[in-house]
Amino acid sequence: MMASQATTAVIGGGLHGLACALALAVRGQDVVVFERSWVGRRASGATAAGVRTLGRDPAEIALSLVALERWHRIADLVGDDCGFHGSGQIKVAENPAEMESLAERARLTRDMGFDHEELIDAAELRRLVPMISPHCVGGLVARRDGAADPHRTIAAFRRTAEGCGVTIREGIAVTALEPDAGGWRVVTDAGTWQVRHVVNAAGAWGGHVCRMIGEPIRFGYKASMVFVTERLTPMIRPVVSAAGRTLSFKQSSQGTLVIGGGLQGSADLKTGVTQVDFHALAKGAQSARALFPAIGTVQVVRAWAGLEGAPADLLPVIGPSVRAPGIFHMFGFSGHGFELVPVVGEIVADWITRGRSSHDIGAFDVARLSL
Ligand SMILES: Cc1cc2nc3c(=O)[nH]c(=O)nc-3n(C[C@H](O)[C@H](O)[C@H](O)COP(=O)(O)OP(=O)(O)OC[C@H]3O[C@@H](n4cnc5c(N)ncnc54)[C@H](O)[C@@H]3O)c2cc1C
Repeated sequence: MMASQATTAVIGGGLHGLACALALAVRGQDVVVFERSWVGRRASGATAAGVRTLGRDPAEIALSLVALERWHRIADLVGDDCGFHGSGQIKVAENPAEMESLAERARLTRDMGFDHEELIDAAELRRLVPMISPHCVGGLVARRDGAADPHRTIAAFRRTAEGCGVTIREGIAVTALEPDAGGWRVVTDAGTWQVRHVVNAAGAWGGHVCRMIGEPIRFGYKASMVFVTERLTPMIRPVVSAAGRTLSFKQSSQGTLVIGGGLQGSADLKTGVTQVDFHALAKGAQSARALFPAIGTVQVVRAWAGLEGAPADLLPVIGPSVRAPGIFHMFGFSGHGFELVPVVGEIVADWITRGRSSHDIGAFDVARLSL
């Protein structure tokens, strides 16, 4: 049977795969996205959708600031504001020692030439978050950060990508990649495609795709959890995390509290099944109560655990394969890749179409993880 053809195949219909497919289509490429289950089924559908530059690994700060500017005009890219609001993110200190660690962080980012992280005292913290517990002594704020609606974001990226001519094939897994004259044969469980380039946007399974092309890497995963409460009247706008606790706390536009921040469940990469750890969730709930005593006995209505790739340094893999020409990686966002969605796809699209990008992605090179 003849192989179908496209210029580029994207493996993975998460937000990063969709964003890259869109950027490639805008640059005139004929793109097919293969998604094993359905678009947004994995990390992109499980995400808490915080748009956070605050507290980023120094290697990611510059990129996250470019992405943040894009979030502030995301409708220009995908015709919808994706429910984004830039109400800020704040990391709260509960005692002087935590305040000192936040001050040190503020010095570090300032010394690097950035001014987006600002130390605030208790009075300013209370002005921004009136419901914060009286024992909190201050915080670090990134005022232009915020959060978005994950499902609106997925729908907007999908709609725009398809509108630009991207073909999305759901329920189709890529099972092998074979070098072919000047390109690659993409073997799927529904036939073979012949393409010039392949984008590995396979999330937690990015390491599997690396194995398909003889580029084995050291790679792990996270099973981050989120829980959501019943609806409450509006009480908080910024997203709040804590210097001394695993916590991220925000209120959605529907009024529910969305609580997470890296609480870990468990997962089986083979089956894709994830499980909530109720003990860890209870700790998260205690942290939320400690910082926000006013929430009292609010009801938790649902909880879930997602699955996301994570190298040991918790930095993503972005850029060309070092062993397989024509293959480009963008995976392993380690629980904080939602914020980067508007920028990474464009970087990979520039590498594919121009052989370079104006952004420095050296820290994300796949070679650092080589086995
Ligand atoms: C609970 C949770 C909360 C989070 N909160 C935040 C947050 O507040 N802020 C933030 O910035 N980030 C957050 N993140 C991280 C963010 O959601 C992810 O970094 C981002 O969604 C990753 O997108 P992706 O496209 O790389 O991966 P995914 O969305 O996982 O997409 C990868 C896709 O590839 C498909 N696939 C894999 N192998 C194959 C194959 N062989 N063939 C075909 N398809 C394949 C999978 O089915 C999957 O759909 C959170 C993540 C989780 C799980």
